[in-house]
Amino acid sequence: MSRRRWLALLLGGAALGTCRPTAGLRYPVRLLGPDRELGHRLRQADFPRPTETRTTGTLIVGGGVAGLVAGWRLHEGGRRDFHILELERKAGGNSRNGRNALTAYPLGAHYLTQPNPLNEPLIGFLQQIGVITGFTEGLPQYDEACLCAEPAERLLFYDRWQNGLLPKSPLSHLDRQQIDRFLARVHALKHERSPEGRYRFDSPLNLSVFDAAADELEGQSFADWLDAEGFTARPLRWYLEYCCRDEYGGLLAGVSAWAGLHYFAARRPRAANADPSTVLVWPQGNGWLVGRLLERLREHVQGRQLVFRLTEHADHVEAWVYDAVAGRSLRWQAERLVLAVPQHVAARLLPEVAWPSGGAQAPWLVANITLRRPPAGWGEELAWDNVRYGGASLGYVVATHQLPCHSEGPTVVTLYHVLTDGDAGAARRLALNRSATDWAAWVEAELETMHPGIGGDIIELELWVWGHGMACPVPGRLAALRAFRAGWLRDRIALAHTDWSGLSTFEEAFDQGWRAI
Ligand SMILES: Cc1cc2nc3c(=O)[nH]c(=O)nc-3n(C[C@H](O)[C@H](O)[C@H](O)COP(=O)(O)OP(=O)(O)OC[C@H]3O[C@@H](n4cnc5c(N)ncnc54)[C@H](O)[C@@H]3O)c2cc1C
Repeated sequence: MSRRRWLALLLGGAALGTCRPTAGLRYPVRLLGPDRELGHRLRQADFPRPTETRTTGTLIVGGGVAGLVAGWRLHEGGRRDFHILELERKAGGNSRNGRNALTAYPLGAHYLTQPNPLNEPLIGFLQQIGVITGFTEGLPQYDEACLCAEPAERLLFYDRWQNGLLPKSPLSHLDRQQIDRFLARVHALKHERSPEGRYRFDSPLNLSVFDAAADELEGQSFADWLDAEGFTARPLRWYLEYCCRDEYGGLLAGVSAWAGLHYFAARRPRAANADPSTVLVWPQGNGWLVGRLLERLREHVQGRQLVFRLTEHADHVEAWVYDAVAGRSLRWQAERLVLAVPQHVAARLLPEVAWPSGGAQAPWLVANITLRRPPAGWGEELAWDNVRYGGASLGYVVATHQLPCHSEGPTVVTLYHVLTDGDAGAARRLALNRSATDWAAWVEAELETMHPGIGGDIIELELWVWGHGMACPVPGRLAALRAFRAGWLRDRIALAHTDWSGLSTFEEAFDQGWRAI
């Protein structure tokens, strides 16, 4: 980035403070989220009858990553007779981003791990959009601008920021021994293969081995597995629970041992110019990837279209759609339909299907905080991802991290919080009923535990509440999903959503969309 552009950003940042503060606060606060009013009309089912019929080859219901990737693959294959109907104004689902005068920032998904070598569709896609710039001796060469710059992660552990998220010091001898033993255990699992040569844990998940040993891990919680293996050290348990909350939105006791281990044992990327643990990041998080998908698909996507009824016929599928822009309903007839919506929505559209159990989605808060200066602290310097040991939230990522002057001037940090207390319904009510002022006070207090006095640096705050963030892989969920998918007999309706993978990541959404075509 040129100095002039950087200065322009700084000036833009200075102008941010001109909005009026929210009552009772020193800065303006906006409380946003997906269009609940439109989405919840599905419950009331009070739509006008369709007055027009439209036809298409493939109708994609839902413009999240999975739906967009299905469209991308159709486009790749030369097809133009497809439409993507999305209920929100903008496509991208929970990989969307926001923006202010200073920078773009994530509203949900914020990073992508480098794909494993067998994930050829995703590697091909990343090459097409320029994230992979070439191959050296068969290994992908990543665009340096997307590789997370060092320091990537830091942890506030006993009042000092340390490099990385795994607690390092001070640790007792026993803690250290257990951490080393856990790392050795997952390293061995990472290389464990079936007699046919498949890795036990792979990504996307459907490449993994599903045998009796997998079933046993799937049937128990990660907490029970750790207890049985004697992994009881508190810093290790904190770290593992942090990873489960961050990746799956669940606690150790609420995530299956298979899913818990998958996080550590499934990733074996190889690159010519990056360490395997380096993640791919952009100021707007995975919203950048959504932007690349939309560059090709924009004319196929229609926003504010709520699909409220589906019927399958011998020679077509019919979708009834409420067009919230025109305030009327339409009837779409298609040869094929890709259902790229979460399970709780699919259950409303196809009530006769016996959907698998355990698909409740946990609510999340994503807070984008514009600050006068980057947060500092004692010890390791500001990283892309910054987490407090024992913190209520999952910490924050820094939108301007990839810029050369990231440790100077105003910035936006994105704080993540998943509500895991009680059942998902109660947590959702709590998340959605909390006022902007109460959420702002909560966010500020949480930031203060990491950076005392930071409240005075806040220029503005944007809060985004995901009532239905992502489904957690509770024990038994992945096995139930495999059985459900094996029994799916609809020729004209394909399922494509991370809810039907069981793990909510970009790789899984990509795989879902790719395989639906
Ligand atoms: C807070 C948060 C942080 C995350 N962070 C990461 C991360 O860092 N990295 C990562 O890889 N993953 C992350 N994820 C996971 C993320 O969910 C996936 O990466 C991916 O975006 C899921 O895509 P999807 O298409 O399966 O689902 P969704 O994003 O749920 O897309 C479904 C789409 O269907 C639309 N829809 C619903 N009902 C209807 C209807 N009736 N008619 C029409 N349209 C409808 C919705 O509006 C939505 O756009 C995060 C998720 C959350 C919630």
